[in-house]
Amino acid sequence: MTKSQKRMQRERDTVRLMIGIFCRGRHGGRTLCASCAQLAGYAMQRIDRCPFQAAKPTCAKCAVHCYRPAMREAVREVMRYAGPRMALRHPILAFLHLLDGFVKPRKN
Ligand code: SF4
Repeated sequence: MTKSQKRMQRERDTVRLMIGIFCRGRHGGRTLCASCAQLAGYAMQRIDRCPFQAAKPTCAKCAVHCYRPAMREAVREVMRYAGPRMALRHPILAFLHLLDGFVKPRKN
């Protein structure tokens, strides 16, 4: 796996984990509920089609904002809830995600 593929895989893993933390905390199930599964699928699709790929910033700091407004609001809610919890449960991924926020976006 190339460095670029690793970065994108880490991005997918981080988003999936955060949606999982949010869904367990807010919706109570062991597996993703239908709306969180839909959000996760949508986020994976956005990441796959991201014009920046390995040079992508975090979506929160992106100037393009390719999410549909409703999905953008939904993912914001996830980040607000799961962000602080990620730091406790997955500190390395949370730290790397924080660093990704400083990436200078560059289209592929
Ligand atoms: S919001 Fe920006 S960084 Fe996130 S997937 Fe869309 S284009 Fe890429």
